[in-house]
Amino acid sequence: MAAGDKVSSHEARWWEPLPGGNVRCLLCPRSCNIPSGKTGFCRIRKNIGGTLCSLAYGHPAAINIDPIEKKPLAGFLPGSKTFSIGTYGCNLGCVFCQNYILSRGTYTSPIKPEECSPASIVKMATENKCRSVAFTYNEPTVWAEYLIDIANLARSSGLATVLVSNAYVSPEPAREIFSCIDAANFDMKGFSEGFYSEMTGGSLAPVLESIKLFHSMGGHLELTNLVIPGKNDFPEMIDDYLSWVGEELGKEIPLHFSAYHPDYKYNASPGTPPQTLLDIRVEAQSRGFSNIYLGNIMF
Ligand code: SF4
Repeated sequence: MAAGDKVSSHEARWWEPLPGGNVRCLLCPRSCNIPSGKTGFCRIRKNIGGTLCSLAYGHPAAINIDPIEKKPLAGFLPGSKTFSIGTYGCNLGCVFCQNYILSRGTYTSPIKPEECSPASIVKMATENKCRSVAFTYNEPTVWAEYLIDIANLARSSGLATVLVSNAYVSPEPAREIFSCIDAANFDMKGFSEGFYSEMTGGSLAPVLESIKLFHSMGGHLELTNLVIPGKNDFPEMIDDYLSWVGEELGKEIPLHFSAYHPDYKYNASPGTPPQTLLDIRVEAQSRGFSNIYLGNIMF
């Protein structure tokens, strides 16, 4: 461990060595080239002496017991409690992030996270009468090694597994992560490459591929779209999104449209007017979508 690290580390998967001691992380489409002693874009995968390590393994930064509807999941184990964990870090750079303290936090900050083995997470979930474990709050795929170990133990203990994710993950690790997940809510941040490039620093195409992959593997799928006035609320953009969902996933998929509020680096748009979300619901229902949910509305 390098001096200054405040937590133990765990060797990562999905990486390759590069000349000169650098490593390339292959977990998400960023494919970060990481010099020794540095972390990748997500801040929680670090090159320690030529080995890529997961700083998040065993170190959740947030643990809560939530209603499953808060993930949000409307059609999976309704009325149940889910044992929810998150760490620091994220592989997108959304300027409007609604949870930046975790997503842009690091493991060299003064806050020392708890140390929790996968077995201790499952034990706490069971003791608290939760029916599932949820990987949530920050972007869980960037701590895939920890997620997979918890998920496999949870399932062998009779618990379901839930993923709340931006779906910005490469196909090979995605297949392995999704194979141990029962239900997912993926965040589709805006239905254009321009929106992803300008507002998230990522791209839409890999997100859509991951969503299709999860759907093809048979898990329970729901999607969420945070609606930002003047950025991703254009009727044509919403129409394109609905067309894609209808063609690729079917019109029964639960779709959540949530109100945004100004946060982090972005305050150029006002909070989402309730009428915008109500109009989207009317449009979606008129096109045959049967499960439309609106979130964070402030009347
Ligand atoms: S998971 Fe993190 S380190 Fe790996 S490629 Fe993505 S942003 Fe970079």
